[in-house]
Amino acid sequence: MAVEQTLSIIKPDAVAKNVIGEIYSRFEKAGLTIVAARMMQLSREQAEGFYAVHKDRPFFNDLVSFMISGPVMVQALEGEDAIAKNRELMGATNPKEAAPGTIRADFAVSIDENAVHGSDGADTAKQEIAYFFKPEEVCKRIR
Ligand code: GDP
Ligand code: MG
Repeated sequence: MAVEQTLSIIKPDAVAKNVIGEIYSRFEKAGLTIVAARMMQLSREQAEGFYAVHKDRPFFNDLVSFMISGPVMVQALEGEDAIAKNRELMGATNPKEAAPGTIRADFAVSIDENAVHGSDGADTAKQEIAYFFKPEEVCKRIR
């Protein structure tokens, strides 16, 4: 295992539920450290660009509309095996299939409003962090 960075987004449904702190607490208890963070209201262009990989999927327009429906909290997380660890904390894409105790099982109700985003691999993690943060905005942690 290596120290990795991954991109996480707390989506508009979870921000509206006021559970940013609860979700951050799960990251911290799992040994993930926040190395960059910004609350933002995404523009349609920003949301479309971020989810460009899904642009031909039938749910693309709904996904973009949801992502711009309110503010999101965007963060880079760092830690051992951070990409897989964050995906494990998140749970399955469909909250109805998400394991008990995961973020999506606890805070999401449907596949279209599912509380969190997390990078799915090393390449996407790098691209997604760079999509939101300049290199100098990602802090170096003293261990
Ligand atoms: P993730 O990596 O677990 O977030 O899932 P994907 O990368 O497959 O999909 C990206 C996002 O698109 C998901 O988190 C959902 O918000 C949304 N999504 C995926 N599948 C569906 C679907 O069948 N219907 C709708 N409305 N949204 C979906
Ligand atoms: Mg994905």
